[in-house]
Amino acid sequence: MDYVEIKELIVFAHHGVFKQEKELGQKFVVSARLYLDTEADVIKDDVDSSVHYGEAAMEITRFLQAESYNLIETAAGRLAEHLLLTYSLLRKVQIRLAKPWAPVGLPLNEVAIELSRSWQPAVVALGSNMGDRRGHIETALRALDRNKSIRLLTSSELIESSPYGVTDQEDFLNGAVYIETVLSPHSLLKYMQVVENDSGRVRTRHWGPRTLDLDLIYYSDLIIHSEDLTLPHPEMQKRDFVLGPVCEIAPNYVDPRYGVPVCELLARLEK
Ligand code: AMP
Repeated sequence: MDYVEIKELIVFAHHGVFKQEKELGQKFVVSARLYLDTEADVIKDDVDSSVHYGEAAMEITRFLQAESYNLIETAAGRLAEHLLLTYSLLRKVQIRLAKPWAPVGLPLNEVAIELSRSWQPAVVALGSNMGDRRGHIETALRALDRNKSIRLLTSSELIESSPYGVTDQEDFLNGAVYIETVLSPHSLLKYMQVVENDSGRVRTRHWGPRTLDLDLIYYSDLIIHSEDLTLPHPEMQKRDFVLGPVCEIAPNYVDPRYGVPVCELLARLEK
């Protein structure tokens, strides 16, 4: 991927854990690699078809001076996300943020953090079996779309399905949406839970009726087993009402556990 590089921009700002750092401020040195989307057409030789490095340098300075974070890790991460959201031609941003005057009481050249953030593909499944099922799902799609850290790419048709697990309840309406996001998997899950709660969801029993259920099916090719998040979603390969919509919107998405496209998982389930 082509990138624009801004090297060792000096910004006077107020990040740090100590009170004096927040009050007096100090020098920071920022380097940024701004990776361009393939849509960026640098051959056109027109500044609108790339990222204007003068403006980007101003934006970095403005952002770092407007905020005051304790950690340079947080400052660098937020800055990377801010740049991704500000310049639509960016796919990935790499930041190096150094603090040459870090007050550690020892002679050192600098302390620094280096990190990268990028738009990541993800798939979310949606289901509802209470009240205005279609309305709940459409409201959820709008709520996902309203979050500027999420871009909706494709959404599936909604399908009727029989309840899974607990069968003495109404039929579900199910669908899936293919998105890209700059949120981390856990932040995305948290936002999905806010959307679920905003739909007035009350959980009476596990796998019971619900106004809205959002499941994170895939996030890039990550495999995660943490207390509150399992990726890919652990049940998805057993559920045709998930695999069908996901196969419709992202037929070539390769399941990182099985190494096969999601439509192949659907074909295997149907056999
Ligand atoms: P449910 O609402 O029945 O889908 O279950 C939600 C619970 O499952 C929450 O406590 C989540 O933290 C947890 N969970 C684990 N992995 C996932 C995932 N991939 N998508 C959604 N929820 C998940």
